[in-house]
Amino acid sequence: MRGSDEAYCLGIESTADDFSVGIVTFNGKILANASSNYVPEEGGIHPREAARHHAEVADAVLQEALVKAAIKPYELTLIAFSQGPGLGPCLRTGATVARALAAYLNRPLVGVNHSIAHIEIGKLTTGAMDPVTLYVSGGNTIVSAFDSGRYRIFGETLDIALGNCLDVFAREAGVKHKPGMPLGAALEELAANGEKLISLPYVVKGMDLSLSGLLTAAITMLRKGKCRLEDLCYSLQEHAFSMVTEVTERALAHTEKTEVLLTGGVAANKRLQSMLRGIAEEHGASFHVVPRQFATDNGAMIAWTGVLSYTHGIVTPLAESFVKLRWRIDKVDIPWVE
Ligand code: AMP
Ligand code: MG
Repeated sequence: MRGSDEAYCLGIESTADDFSVGIVTFNGKILANASSNYVPEEGGIHPREAARHHAEVADAVLQEALVKAAIKPYELTLIAFSQGPGLGPCLRTGATVARALAAYLNRPLVGVNHSIAHIEIGKLTTGAMDPVTLYVSGGNTIVSAFDSGRYRIFGETLDIALGNCLDVFAREAGVKHKPGMPLGAALEELAANGEKLISLPYVVKGMDLSLSGLLTAAITMLRKGKCRLEDLCYSLQEHAFSMVTEVTERALAHTEKTEVLLTGGVAANKRLQSMLRGIAEEHGASFHVVPRQFATDNGAMIAWTGVLSYTHGIVTPLAESFVKLRWRIDKVDIPWVE
């Protein structure tokens, strides 16, 4: 239960297909996390259509979060929003809602880096303190760890993100969105019935990796119609997950950190979890995975990172609240980590 003297932050997430509002207390209790997901009629996310969805649902999602948290708007101390990276029209819609709320309630505004929020919600919900993090989602694939005041990037994708790779293949294979089930999860179900490992491109370059060649090869095999779909899904997962696991393992060996954290939408995948658990155990590190409801994009992670920022002196004046489409995590100072 919330205490009457507590401070509350409302966070707005809108970088891509999800519009989400979270409310957290300043000491890290998550009171609400309400979301609405935009599902394209066909194909991938259309940024303007997604933004239109966000604008249409914003009021209802805000109300739902406030009701769940049992908070009145004037009780809020702080408004946080995803300032980037992400899709321009989607980011701008969330930022507009956040600016309007902050101005109307006369409360401070904090722009949050979306990728850092995925790391921070992982730490908050699992208790990890200083992990090597694999952040894998629809738009990002990053291996990072804290060093000298920032989250440093040890490795990343050179082209498409892991979640995007899985989603594009699933769509090519005719897998349909089921309510409440992301395409990556549908592909995971098919992969569980795979029996044969088909050889596909495996591309790790230094500490970075490339997934587009793997995707093209898998789609080419699919179109030839000579392989079982289950075997292709299994093989795609095995190759892609091995690549991100290899890079994470090398970052772990280099940094000698004692924790591994898996976060982002693809973190829900059991096979990926087991690969990462394996390398963590081999290096004597503990393994942590963000709970499923905070794996995919969510407002609670923005609210919590807003609290961390604000309580360490960071606010975002209106004039500096423009969205940052390609805002890298290693450009952000992190004063709240020792
Ligand atoms: P996000 O971008 O963080 O909202 O995460 C969405 C991405 O996570 C999409 O690419 C989904 O297909 C992917 N995803 C969600 N659940 C799973 C799963 N069980 N296995 C693989 N990918 C998943
Ligand atoms: Mg999403």
